Amino acid sequence: MGDGALSVWEKSSTARVVPPARPRKLAKVPFAELADGRLQGVVSSGSDIGRVYVSSVAAGTYAFACSTNNNRPCGGARGMFCKHIQTLVSEAVLQYGVERVARYLKVEIPEGDAGTQSLTAAMTASCPVPGDSSAAAQVFSRFLRQLAYLELAPITAPVPEMQWFPPTRTVA
Ligand SMILES: [Zn+2]
Repeated sequence: MGDGALSVWEKSSTARVVPPARPRKLAKVPFAELADGRLQGVVSSGSDIGRVYVSSVAAGTYAFACSTNNNRPCGGARGMFCKHIQTLVSEAVLQYGVERVARYLKVEIPEGDAGTQSLTAAMTASCPVPGDSSAAAQVFSRFLRQLAYLELAPITAPVPEMQWFPPTRTVA
């Protein structure tokens, strides 16, 4: 992709703006990130609108964890990936693209057959074990912090964490 494909604000940004591989709905998985050696995120409960799960899969070992935001373990994630983890994987594939997710998690997927299913299948085939869910609170608070930005009143003073947003010229 040459410079021509970038808009002015993308060029003036110091961080590269990575558009989602494919657009996705945020309701199911409002937060997904490849960080701290894990794919981790927040997944809405299918049945209870007030409940969310913090799910994660570790790179390399695929050790998985799933618990509610109140730190109660997910009943579905005792011996295998629960549906929240599966949803997290498929939404992460939409957001980051299957190659990037596979590379980060160190999953070998057959070339040309790069889909969520082969990614999940490759991980479950190695019989991963439940991992440590102690990072859940941290993941959840990162998600809340991200949400908080949506509620900031419009101001012109700099917000340090937002500096990766490019400065734009004010129209008088
Ligand atoms: Zn779960």
